[in-house]
Amino acid sequence: MSCVFCEIVKGNLPAKVVYEDGHVMAFHDINPQAPVHVLLIPKKHITNLAEEVPVELAHALIRGIRHTVERLGVKDYRIVSNSGKGAGQEVFHLHIHILAGKEMPASTV
Ligand code: AMP
Ligand code: ZN
Repeated sequence: MSCVFCEIVKGNLPAKVVYEDGHVMAFHDINPQAPVHVLLIPKKHITNLAEEVPVELAHALIRGIRHTVERLGVKDYRIVSNSGKGAGQEVFHLHIHILAGKEMPASTV
């Protein structure tokens, strides 16, 4: 089964890439929910956080958040990762939403 984010990693689908290293890639969300809305993904296909994330990759993801927001020039941001259909996950390749550029509502989390 083809995965849209794996296709982006392979370069088969276009993306506005913000940050990339050997482990992770960050690109603008196609349907932004905030003035800044970027998705950070592992290059390796992992379904969501219910799956084992190797420690080196977990570290790369956390570091990737920092590098990505530095590139974006934002200071305050919110990260969200929907894990499972019931939480609103639509693309089943692990991704961390990085949202910024507006006042975040305190109601959800
Ligand atoms: P989620 O609902 O947490 O699975 O989020 C999936 C996100 O992927 C949504 O915010 C979509 O707008 C975004 N998305 C889907 N396809 C693409 C794509 N080709 N390029 C960029 N973002 C995408
Ligand atoms: Zn994938």
